[in-house]
Amino acid sequence: MVLDDLGSSLRGTLDSLRGKSRIDEEDVEEVVKEIQRSLLQADVDVSLVMALSDSIKERALEEEPPGGTTARDHVLRIVYEELVDLVGESTELPLEEQTIMLAGLQGSGKTTTAAKMAWWFSKKGLRPAVIQTDTFRPGAYEQAEQMCERAEVDFYGDPDEDDPVKIAREGLEATEDADVRIVDTAGRHALEADLIDEIEEIEATVQPDRSLLVLDAAIGQGAKDQAQQFEDSVGIDGVVITKLDGTAKGGGALTAVNETDSTIAFLGSGETVQDIERFEPDGFISRLLG
Ligand code: GDP
Repeated sequence: MVLDDLGSSLRGTLDSLRGKSRIDEEDVEEVVKEIQRSLLQADVDVSLVMALSDSIKERALEEEPPGGTTARDHVLRIVYEELVDLVGESTELPLEEQTIMLAGLQGSGKTTTAAKMAWWFSKKGLRPAVIQTDTFRPGAYEQAEQMCERAEVDFYGDPDEDDPVKIAREGLEATEDADVRIVDTAGRHALEADLIDEIEEIEATVQPDRSLLVLDAAIGQGAKDQAQQFEDSVGIDGVVITKLDGTAKGGGALTAVNETDSTIAFLGSGETVQDIERFEPDGFISRLLG
C-alpha cells in the first residue's frame, strides 16, 4: 500500500504515534501539518488542502478505531482514504470502440499524448488511430505523423487543409477501420474565443465518447480557469497530466479534476511514445507526498 511509501517526515510523525492507543488533537494537528506542507509544495490548491485537513482531523478524533487498531494505524487509514478521495479513481476507459478528443493549451502535450495513448491502446490489442486537427501550430502535423509512425499506429492529417473541422470529418471516414480514434485539437497560448468555437465545432462533428483535458504538471493554479472553460464548452470527462518526469508533481491538476468533477486518466512521463501510464491513486499520492 502507498502508506509504506509516505514522505519520510510524515512517516516519522506517524511513527511517533506508535504505542499510543488514543490520539489527541495535538497529534492529529502534527500529522495534518506535515501533509499540508507536502501538498502545498506539490501545488495542490490551498482550499483543497484545507478541506482535506478538516476531514482528516474530524475523522481521526471522532471515529472510534476498530478494536485492536493502534492510534497510528487508525490515523494512517483515514489519511490514506482521504487522499484517495482527493485524487480520485482512474478515469474509466473500457477497452472497446470509442472516440476520444483531447483538449488543452498549446504546449501542454496534446500531440505527444495522442500518440502515446494510441500506443497504449495498441498494446491492449485494439486498433487505434490518431486524427490530427491542429492546423494552427507549425509542425504539429509532422510531429504527430512521426510519433504515430514510431508507435506503429494509424494516423490521419492533412497538411494542405486549414479547416480543422473538415479534417476531423474526413479523418473519421479515413479511420473507419480503427477501434479507438484519438482526435488531437489545436491549443493556443491563452484561451481565446475562436479556439473555443473551433473545439466546439470539432466536438459536434466527431461526437467523442470522452473528452480529456491535457495539463502540464507545472500548471499550478492556472488549471482552474482552463478547466472551467473547457468544461463549459465541450465537457471534460478526464484529465491527462504530462511532464511528470520533471520536477513538478502535478498537484495543480487536481484543481482541474475538482472543477470538472472528473478523474485522471493517464500520466505522461517523457517524450517518447512509451512514456505513458494509466493513472492509479497510490503512486500519485506517493509522488505528491514524497
Ligand atoms: P501540444 O502543443 O499540446 O500538442 O504539445 P506537444 O505534444 O507538442 O508537447 C509540447 C512539448 O512538451 C514537446 O516538446 C513534447 O516533447 C514535450 N512533452 C510532452 N509530454 C511530455 C512529457 O510527459 N515529458 C516531457 N519531458 N516532455 C513532454
